[in-house]
Amino acid sequence: MAQVKVIKCLQFRIYPDAAQQVLIWKTFGCCRWMWNHLLDERIKSNKVLDGVKFKNTTPAHFKKIPENSFLKEVDALALANEQLNVNRACSKCFAKGKTPKFRAKRNERRSYTTNAVNNNIELIHIRDTENYLKLPKLRLVKIIRHRNIPDGAVLKHVTVKETASGKFFAALTYEVMQEEVQPVTEFKDVESFDYNMRDLVVSASGRYDIQAEDIHWYRKMEQKLAKEERRLSHMEYGSNHYRKQKHRVGAIHEKIANRRNDFLHNLSRDVADEFDAVAVEDINLHGMAQALNFGKSIHDNGFGRFRGFLAYKLKAQGKALVKVSWNFPSTQRCSVCHHINSKVKDLSVREWVCPSCGALHNRDKNACANLKQEAINYLNRWANGDSTLILTPEGVLSVKKPHLLKGGE
Ligand SMILES: [Zn+2]
Repeated sequence: MAQVKVIKCLQFRIYPDAAQQVLIWKTFGCCRWMWNHLLDERIKSNKVLDGVKFKNTTPAHFKKIPENSFLKEVDALALANEQLNVNRACSKCFAKGKTPKFRAKRNERRSYTTNAVNNNIELIHIRDTENYLKLPKLRLVKIIRHRNIPDGAVLKHVTVKETASGKFFAALTYEVMQEEVQPVTEFKDVESFDYNMRDLVVSASGRYDIQAEDIHWYRKMEQKLAKEERRLSHMEYGSNHYRKQKHRVGAIHEKIANRRNDFLHNLSRDVADEFDAVAVEDINLHGMAQALNFGKSIHDNGFGRFRGFLAYKLKAQGKALVKVSWNFPSTQRCSVCHHINSKVKDLSVREWVCPSCGALHNRDKNACANLKQEAINYLNRWANGDSTLILTPEGVLSVKKPHLLKGGE
C-alpha cells in the first residue's frame, strides 16, 4: 500500500528556568520588533514600486546595524520565520487591498517558531523523570514527555509558547510516513447535525443531541471568569497584583477552553468512528451570529469548532463531512414527500403537519432527516464524478462556490 507523508504535531509542557524564561520573553519581543520593522519596509517599498515588486529586506540587514545588537541574543531562525510570516501576510492582505497590522506590546503574541536544522533541536533522555529539549540559544529546557514520538518521525519545527496563565509549552511538528487511507465508498450509516438555538445541536440518530444542560458547567465558569476579570480591571496596569491577577484570569480561560475542547473531541471521536459520513448545513456562523444577535451562544457551544474536529477525524478514516448548501431548504421541506412548507420559516414553529402528506414533523428532526438525504445525494453525485462538487484537503465535501465554478469552465 502506498505511503504518504503526514504532519503530526505533539505538544509538551516545558519548564524553563528563570534565565531561560527571560530569554524566551526577549525572543517574543524581538520577533514583534522584527515583524514591525519588516512590515514597515514592505509597506514603504510597496508604495514606491506601486505593488509590482518589493525590496525583500532580511533580518540580517537589521542585525548589521550596531544599535540593533540585541537581536543577536535571540534565536536567528525565529527572526527568519518572522520574515516568512510578514511575506505571507502581505501577499494575502495586499491582494485584498488591505495592510497587515503592526503588533503592539500590550497584547504581544507569546510564541515563536524555530526550525530543526543540523540537529540544533534534540530531545534528550536522561531518565524517566528527567528529560530535556535542546533548543537554539536556550540549550537544555526541562520537558515532560507524556507521550512517545512516532517511529521514523522527522522533526521539522518547534513552537515555543507561553499561555495566558504563565505556563510554557513546546509544540513539536514532525513529518511521519503513513499508509495511505482508502476512501470509504459505501455510505450505509450517515449522521446529520442541525444547529438550533434552543437545544444547541440536534442529530438525526438522536444519539448525539447536545442540550444546554450538557454544557451548563460552561455558564458557571463564565460567571467566575467575569468576576475575576472585573477584579483585574480595578488593578494598576503593570503592577505585581495586576500580573498575578492576569495569570489567574488566563488560567480560567484555559480551563474553559480545555474542557470545551475535551467535550468536543470526545463527541466528534464517537461520531466519526460510528458513521460513514456526516452532514451539516453550510451556514455562515459569523453572519448568523450577527444577524440574529446570538453572538454569545454561538461562540459558546463551539459548533464551528465541532465541525472542524469532525472533518479531520472523518478524513483520517477516509470518510467525509458533507456541508449541505445554505440555500437547501432543510427546514421547510417535508422529509417524507419533499413538499415545501414556507410557514415553517417562523422560528416559533416547533412542530408541524405536512399539508401534502400529513406527516407530523418535529422542526429539528425533520431538518436533520433532510440534511441526511441531501448528503447521501451529494455523496452519490461525487462518486459519479459530478464536477459541481468539491472535496477539500480538509475532508469536506460541498458545492463549489460560484466563482470557482466559473474559473473551472
Ligand atoms: Zn409531506
